[in-house]
Amino acid sequence: MGIQRRTFLKMLAGTTVTAASIKAFGLSGINLKVVNDPYAYPPEYRGWEDLYRDEWTWDSVTRSTHGVNCTGSCSWKVFVRNGLILREEQAADYPDIDPALPSINPRGCNKGACYAAEYVNGDRRIKYPLKRVGARGAGLWQRISWDQALTEIADQVIANIQSDGPDSLTFFTPIPAMSPVSFSSGVRLAHLLGGVVCSFYDWYCDLPPGSPITLGEQTDVAESTDWVNSRYMILWGSNPVQTRIPDAHFVTEAKYNGCKVLAIFPDFASSSIRADRWLSVEPGTDAALALAICQHLITTSQYDAAYLQEQTDMPFLVRTDTGEYLREADVVAGGAADRFYVWSGGQLEPAPNADLNLGSLSPDLSVSEVVDLDGGGTATIETVFDRLTARLNANHTAAQAAGITGVGAAVITEIANEIGAAGTSSGGRVMIMHGAGTNHWYHNDLNNRAMLLMLSLLGAIGKNGGGFNHYVGQEKIWPVNGLKALSFPQGGAHQRFQNTTLWTHVHAELSDQPTGLSQTTRGYMFDSVANGWMPLYPEGALGTDKAAYVSNGVPHRDPKMMFIWRANWFNQAKGNNYIEQSLYPKLNMIVDLNFQMDTTAFYADIVLPSASHYEKHDINTTDMHSFCHPFNPAIPPMFESKTDWQIFQALAAKIQERAGGYTYPDPKWPGGTRDLSTLQNDFTNNGAIAADIDATQFLLDNAPETAGMTMAGITVQPQRFNNTTTWTSNLEAGRPYTAFLKNTEDKELYHTLTGRQQYLIEHAWFVEAGEELPTYKPPVTAAGEEGFPLLYNTPHGRWAIHSTWRNAKQMLRLNRGGPICYMHPTDMTTRGLADDDWVRMHNNHGQVIVRVKEMKSEKAGRVTMYHSWERYVGIKGQMANFNSVTGIRIKPTQLAGGYGQLHFALNYWGPTGVQRDTRVEVEKYNG
Ligand code: SF4
Repeated sequence: MGIQRRTFLKMLAGTTVTAASIKAFGLSGINLKVVNDPYAYPPEYRGWEDLYRDEWTWDSVTRSTHGVNCTGSCSWKVFVRNGLILREEQAADYPDIDPALPSINPRGCNKGACYAAEYVNGDRRIKYPLKRVGARGAGLWQRISWDQALTEIADQVIANIQSDGPDSLTFFTPIPAMSPVSFSSGVRLAHLLGGVVCSFYDWYCDLPPGSPITLGEQTDVAESTDWVNSRYMILWGSNPVQTRIPDAHFVTEAKYNGCKVLAIFPDFASSSIRADRWLSVEPGTDAALALAICQHLITTSQYDAAYLQEQTDMPFLVRTDTGEYLREADVVAGGAADRFYVWSGGQLEPAPNADLNLGSLSPDLSVSEVVDLDGGGTATIETVFDRLTARLNANHTAAQAAGITGVGAAVITEIANEIGAAGTSSGGRVMIMHGAGTNHWYHNDLNNRAMLLMLSLLGAIGKNGGGFNHYVGQEKIWPVNGLKALSFPQGGAHQRFQNTTLWTHVHAELSDQPTGLSQTTRGYMFDSVANGWMPLYPEGALGTDKAAYVSNGVPHRDPKMMFIWRANWFNQAKGNNYIEQSLYPKLNMIVDLNFQMDTTAFYADIVLPSASHYEKHDINTTDMHSFCHPFNPAIPPMFESKTDWQIFQALAAKIQERAGGYTYPDPKWPGGTRDLSTLQNDFTNNGAIAADIDATQFLLDNAPETAGMTMAGITVQPQRFNNTTTWTSNLEAGRPYTAFLKNTEDKELYHTLTGRQQYLIEHAWFVEAGEELPTYKPPVTAAGEEGFPLLYNTPHGRWAIHSTWRNAKQMLRLNRGGPICYMHPTDMTTRGLADDDWVRMHNNHGQVIVRVKEMKSEKAGRVTMYHSWERYVGIKGQMANFNSVTGIRIKPTQLAGGYGQLHFALNYWGPTGVQRDTRVEVEKYNG
């Protein structure tokens, strides 16, 4: 029986619902209630219906994107009606690199699709300047005017410069690639004031330190399209199905193209289902596995000897008496200390030092000879390859690795043979997709170096379809020279840069740690700063009395003020409780620019409302693809918000006004004197870059990768970058980008001491640690964490990008709606825990109380809490978060300097913010 919905409703709205009618509609047994006909409502109450009738009408469509350090860099269309953003949709119009390759369209993810609903129009939006009126973190705020906010901040800036110097001003903003103009806004002001700009790539432990150690590069990787060129892909600590949603399809497409995929995770991570095979390793033992594969490849001669001869230091000669490279200075009077030797044709030959071309040389990979030394005497020489092989044979056989990794020796050799065959048959098209899972360990550099070694043996670095593709963080700002020009108008030499891990460790007064070496952590920190290897601000913070600092850990000078923008620094900071207890009290003002009330804003003193991603001009770039595309304002900044560029410009103007012509000496500045009377004009280049769009165009104009591009042009359609002079490969038409082609194809030297992929590091601290060559060391248990049995794992998940969307209703509905940890059933049973119980996760650093979820695919002995829950989201009993149980550990070798490629540079070299060795206990919470 057919019936119209309207008729049905009218019948139900009648005065009597008879038993017959109920029976006639097959509704017997249902307790029906009569409701009013909504269509009978007066028209003035039915306006909501128009929303649906007009769903597919709009006033404007604007191209924009999201700057959340997701690495997606997806271009979106933003639909506006009546001045409000209604919805967003993937633009899906990236040009093809090569029509024969899979398209990168459409790009997008579940989070991006609800950005407008959650953050532009969401209820956490910060509408006005706010001033804290209660204790930090109490959530008590007063609405103030922009003028009052800028005046109070400007006065505090000037007062701090006068009392403590400009290096007491600290500026933190991460990841320029996600919105470089916003990045540059505060950094440019810091530059003009003499403030300290903090690192982020190392602090967030995105930096793979093995890359600068071995390759002399921070990181460079293949764009995701290149994955389809691979013949053997290892997902090692990277879980693309969850964390690279717009790019994960390339893994499947690589398989269609004949690639074998191996997943190496302790747990059955969700990407494992896309792999041909999954190896469950013990957490933190990846280097042991990689080195055993290397040992088997060498033993069975499954390596690319020609590649090793040309691209690596493997044939370089080493003195057996010193363990150091044989140098020209050793054998020639007045010889150079940076000229090295190989053995070729039965004699000593200088290694080429203009480029990697070997010419007529054919360096031996194995040598045992004696050479005459300048000044008399002799030295026995061998090669790096000899020393490495001896170490691998002694310590890193498959049988030895089996006992460490939990992977059987037969499986290791089987896998090694597979990888060796794939490398040999494909000319090195073997890639490791590397991620935070293996990079967040204390010995992350050893993990990196072991994996790099495996790839070097296969000739896989600097090959399409091959390489060490480390995808953690949206680090690749393709037009980097434009960024520098905008951020540091007087050049980087006049900017104070700071490694954030070291700065936070010192000023939050983290406990000292034994290292198993000759000094404790503080001893190495003091020496590194005293040697000038690592900067530490404010200058003189550690004093001159090493013994006093090592014993009490109290700095001599404190930072006074902190600016944070485009970041949830406090929430994401390891050692969260130490920062709250020891660092924050030293800061007389914390200023946060934000579009939402996140944890950092919650604990700030003044919060300035910043424009959302759909309300400003900027660009967005990523290592995952090679296209430039913009942010554009779909609507003007809502409420009283302003763009970051406008906020810092307004602050520059206010500081100039309040400073009244104040000048101060600063040796870091050209001429030695800073003059605040011209600050606003200095900020805007005399007005030329006052507008956001002009600042963006300035950035594009000042980089070879974007020269000739216009904001209007990239708004019409994303454009592929120009050929690059900045990165490690040229960008060629029709060819996916992969790293280090300038070395393998153009034969350029690597930026290392030897000009080669360098596996021998002679630095005294590496030698002391026994890490002069790749090796394996187990996870470390920090002092104070002994007795806490569970490893604490904090990976990236699919329902948030860091802390963004962690508080988003639409994402929370896709999981349990609040902070949870995941445990193996065995670990739960031994603790008397049932699924969904409240549990107290705790150690010597603090505690966090969340619900537990049973996860059969979790590794026993480990508890996982996807990272970045805000302090205020559903955590029971206290303001706490996933970082309440972390400290800060610094590995001494990552403080080293004064050696070839080991020199401090922002985000290139410095201690990383490791946390995956952390240990906790979990117990039922009955509070
Ligand atoms: Fe793409 Fe990132 Fe936006 Fe998701 S959040 S749609 S990955 S840009």
